[in-house]
Amino acid sequence: MNFYVTILGSGAALPTGRRRCSAQVVNVNGFKLLLDCAEGTQDRIRQHHLKLQSLGTILISHLHGDHFFGLAPLLSTMHLCGRTEPMTIVAPKGAKEVIETTFELTGNHVGYELNFVEMDFSEGLHRVFEGKRCTVDAFPILHSVPTYGFRITEVPRGGNPARVYTYACDTAYSEDLVPFMRDSSLLCLECTFADDLAELARERQHLTAGQAARLATLAEPKQLLLTHISARYKEPELLADQATALFPSTILATDGQIVEIK
Ligand SMILES: [Zn+2]
Ligand SMILES: [Zn+2]
Repeated sequence: MNFYVTILGSGAALPTGRRRCSAQVVNVNGFKLLLDCAEGTQDRIRQHHLKLQSLGTILISHLHGDHFFGLAPLLSTMHLCGRTEPMTIVAPKGAKEVIETTFELTGNHVGYELNFVEMDFSEGLHRVFEGKRCTVDAFPILHSVPTYGFRITEVPRGGNPARVYTYACDTAYSEDLVPFMRDSSLLCLECTFADDLAELARERQHLTAGQAARLATLAEPKQLLLTHISARYKEPELLADQATALFPSTILATDGQIVEIK
């Protein structure tokens, strides 16, 4: 049985031919969660031969378009393809209203149950999903709108220690986040900018490569995965070099990549 993540989009706000905006499918021993849902996510799910209807739960970090604008069309397509299974959507407060208003005003509907778990807290770790294969806990991170990181923990099998995948995107730098990231098998952090743009990162509440790696040195995951890379970087190896100088076990995400959670 496996625990791995498929990167559907590793770019920041502006989609390009090489990098689409944020979306990942996390497979926890056969149970699939969609993590963020940028525009075009349903196309990428098909492109990577991941069955649309096999998604069990959707987690949305925040309502910025590059993480959320693909959700209404994805849910609509699931309906058109005959979905009857309920869908749980964990998202910041407001997501339910956006989706329901979109369907109402556009005359669309879905014929299956949508169960929204809306997050509206500003501190601490909160259990937002509990299933047979994994649990999900959410924690607030620092961005211009309410934004949450997720810890996805497998239900351990055969007495083995549970593996944990932690995702924090988008966020500004804060060492207060480190306790939420500890004991991760794989830690996925945003890495929008290179280190020379630290001031811009601070203004826009994002991380640089070095800042992401610095958080990893404190949280001590087995591996660090960097995503949400600005379209300005035609040679993103620069970001990888800056991060690995501090935290050697770093992977720079690319679209279509599959990363095993060990
Ligand atoms: Zn973003
Ligand atoms: Zn954002």
